[in-house]
Amino acid sequence: MERTFLAIKPDGVQRGLVGEIIGRFEAKGFTLVGMKLITATRELAEQHYGVHKERPFFAGLVNFITSGPMVAMVWEGDGVVASARKIIGATNPLNSEPGTIRGDLAVNVGRNIIHGSDAVETANEEISLWFKDEELSAWTPCLTPWIVE
Ligand code: UDP
Repeated sequence: MERTFLAIKPDGVQRGLVGEIIGRFEAKGFTLVGMKLITATRELAEQHYGVHKERPFFAGLVNFITSGPMVAMVWEGDGVVASARKIIGATNPLNSEPGTIRGDLAVNVGRNIIHGSDAVETANEEISLWFKDEELSAWTPCLTPWIVE
């Protein structure tokens, strides 16, 4: 079953949006298989955003990501990687469609409240970076037959 890594960033936690954000993925019909409140070390943040290390916003991004607790999560479901990216919306919240998390709840690219893996391969790398195997629970919600034919 496909899995993705989602993280509510420190601004989402500070703004009290944890329940609102998690609720959107629950309501969609995806399954939460791992979750923890974690303040990322600089090493973890730099590894997570390693692809951006030459970009001008990298230092600020690492400072921001390590500035407070995040809610790190693993979600499971058919097509969950691409679907979660649609639910999250465009990177710059000013370009995110209304109805998306960033479109509804954020205005600034440097404070865009949530991360979501951009591809299945990246998702698997990010899941193993943030979680140990024993922190993930494979389970079948009793509602599954009402969500997936
Ligand atoms: N970011 C930023 N300034 C920029 C571009 C990106 O602060 O000009 C941050 C922003 O938090 C974004 C993250 O870097 O979410 C990763 O950028 P990416 O292009 O991978 O966007 P995402 O996958 O998060 O939509």
